[in-house]
Amino acid sequence: MFRGVLPIGPRFRKKRRGVAGPNKNQKKVLSNLRAARPTSEGETLAGKFPAVESLTLRLDFTTPQRQALDGETKAFGPSDACDFTAPCPGRCGGYGVFDFTPAFTSAIARREASAEAHGTCQQPIFAGSPEGCGMQLACRIAVVYRPE
Ligand SMILES: [Zn+2]
Repeated sequence: MFRGVLPIGPRFRKKRRGVAGPNKNQKKVLSNLRAARPTSEGETLAGKFPAVESLTLRLDFTTPQRQALDGETKAFGPSDACDFTAPCPGRCGGYGVFDFTPAFTSAIARREASAEAHGTCQQPIFAGSPEGCGMQLACRIAVVYRPE
């Protein structure tokens, strides 16, 4: 009799990136992105993407009411900590996290000069609520590569 066990069950979920707590101030959240954690080799732009000389990231949030929030542009050099996640500034209180890592990692692997990705926060506005947050984020990168 076959007694194998499937290694992946419904409980297997990718762990959500830790957010310290509710974030009340959108601007503060965004400006904290860069200085959030001490930089280690694996988290720097050069450590993650050796082919990249510099990178510019543009974030534009739009509320479910189609109101544009203040966007933010960030520039990264080789020694800057770089990741493509952003906590949501919407009604979910920052529990939602946008993660564009897969899209931009593959764009950089193809040495694309620019790439764009969109996401909508699916996080409930409070625990157990059927209503989703609905904040939208358009994220663009412009990449300068080292000579091959
Ligand atoms: Zn949200």
